[in-house]
Amino acid sequence: MKKIVIASNNAGKLKEISAILGPLDWQAHPQGEFNVPEAEEPFATFVENSLAKARHASRLTGLPALADDSGLCTEALGGAPGVFSARFAGEPKSDLRNNQKLVQLLASHANRRAYYYCVMVLVRHADDPQPLIADGIWHGEIIVQPRGQSGFGYDPYFYLPALGKTAAELEPLEKNRISHRAQALLALVEKIKTQA
Ligand code: IMP
Repeated sequence: MKKIVIASNNAGKLKEISAILGPLDWQAHPQGEFNVPEAEEPFATFVENSLAKARHASRLTGLPALADDSGLCTEALGGAPGVFSARFAGEPKSDLRNNQKLVQLLASHANRRAYYYCVMVLVRHADDPQPLIADGIWHGEIIVQPRGQSGFGYDPYFYLPALGKTAAELEPLEKNRISHRAQALLALVEKIKTQA
C-alpha cells in the first residue's frame, strides 16, 4: 500500500478526494494529520497554486503529495471568482458571503454560464521535476435561489440543466462521479498507473 498525503484542509474536498481514492491501493492521509499548515496560494493560475500546495505538503511530511486547486469561473464576470473562489468575499473565508457576493454581481447579467475547474497534481517528492498533472471542467449555470444541502462552497447555486439539479442536490456518490474534481482525479490516476 502506498502512503500519500493529501494537501488540503478543506473538509468538503477531503471527503470527496478520499471517496474517489477509496478503491485504490493507497493509504491517503490529510495533511492535518501531520500538522501541515495551509500553504500560500499567491499565484494567478490554478496549476501553480496546486503545485505549490503539493510541494509544501511533501516537503513537510517527506511523503508523496496530492494537491488540488479549484474554483468557480463565470463567463459574465470574465472568469471570476476563479483562483480567488475560496476568499472571494475576503477573510475569513465564508461560503455564505462568497455566494452572496456572486449572486449580487451576477444580478444584472443574463449570461449565467459558469464552470468549476480543478487541477490535480501529484509530486513524488518535494522537488519532483516531473509532477503528474491533470485537470477537469464541469459546466453549469448560476441560479438566484440556493437549492440542496449536500456538497460545499458554491454548490447550492451551481445548477446542472441536464440533470435539473444543483450540485448540492446531487447524492455525494453522483457528484463524485461527474465533478471537475472527479474528472481531474480519475485522469491523474490514469497517468499515475502509466507514469508514476
Ligand atoms: P482552493 O481550496 O484554493 O482550491 O479553493 C477552492 C474554492 O473553490 C472552494 O473554497 C470553493 O469556494 C470553490 N470550489 C471548488 N470546488 C468546489 C465544489 O466542488 N463545490 C463548491 N465550491 C467549490
